[in-house]
Amino acid sequence: MSDNLILDKEGIYCRQNSPLIISGPCSAESEEQVVETAHQLSKLGIKIYRAGIWKPRTRPDTFDGMGSVALPWLKKVKEETGMLVATEVANMWHVKEAFKYGIDILWIGARTTANPFAVQEIADAIRGYDIPVFVKNPVNPDIELWIGALERVNNAGITKLVAVHRGFGYYGESPYRNVPQWEIPIELKRRFPDLPIITDPSHICGNRNLLFSVSQTAMDLDFDGLFIESHRDPDAALSDKDQQVTPQQLSDLLEGLIHRNHDVRSAGQLESLEGLRRQIDQWDDELLRILRSRMYISEQIGDYKKQENITILQTNRWSEILEDRLIKARKAGLSDQFIVQIFKQIHQESIRFQNNVMN
Ligand code: PEP
Ligand code: MN
Repeated sequence: MSDNLILDKEGIYCRQNSPLIISGPCSAESEEQVVETAHQLSKLGIKIYRAGIWKPRTRPDTFDGMGSVALPWLKKVKEETGMLVATEVANMWHVKEAFKYGIDILWIGARTTANPFAVQEIADAIRGYDIPVFVKNPVNPDIELWIGALERVNNAGITKLVAVHRGFGYYGESPYRNVPQWEIPIELKRRFPDLPIITDPSHICGNRNLLFSVSQTAMDLDFDGLFIESHRDPDAALSDKDQQVTPQQLSDLLEGLIHRNHDVRSAGQLESLEGLRRQIDQWDDELLRILRSRMYISEQIGDYKKQENITILQTNRWSEILEDRLIKARKAGLSDQFIVQIFKQIHQESIRFQNNVMN
């Protein structure tokens, strides 16, 4: 985790060995619901409160937020509980309204991050106020678009930036509402080691049952915190009801999380890990040697196909390979998704080698 992240009245600029937790309902629905949920969370030790006021909904004719009337409710939460309050902004007008009511933290939603015009408009509206801004990943798995949005906000002089990993849209069967694709936030962390990243398990899961495992994974990956929805009465929520939990359920979830050490502490730990890492290095060398040998055969096949004037792509053969490797890989306990990805990449590279020989 980034050690230089702390949260206090001034904003977020340092962290003290416990994850940054931000929670509250998907949407502000009524003054009562907002204030009561906040009091419950505050009693359980939550310091930052979220509630959506302008809701970007997929379909029309669904509840799209209370709008500005809900801003005084958040102000009341601040006054009564001392929590910091956060809401989503999607255009310049939202930013202006949020400032009028002393909102402490703004977040840019996944659909807005995907739109550079909107992000720029928001960045321009925030310029001059160093308010913390949380930037959710775009709905599509495009790390550059996510970075671009963070840069636009940063270029407007905002330094208290937090990236929020909320999963990525996916067409097809999946246990998740938005697939986590952990490799994307991991790559963001690799490229920007000082940028805090928190995970939003609510929008990844889409239902309560998976929240714990996704939250634990985020902790195991050394992410900086969780952005998680809770509602005093989730089943009655006007948006995202299946994924919201009560404040007490949230507290139980947080209690259950295991926090592991970021640092390798003792000489013994280091020695054991290094021994295993050396073995990984050796196997990786072996993998590279095998891949190169495989490509050498692809080159010979390319040569032969050129002589005989045969196309590179032979769909039947490719389908056979994939089926056969999947059966074998399953027996070895490797996941289908992994094997399909790996063999697609190998096949692509093989085509590239054959192409080089042919043309
Ligand atoms: C939200 O946080 O309620 C929300 C709309 O999230 P996202 O932008 O990630 O869909
Ligand atoms: Mn929501």
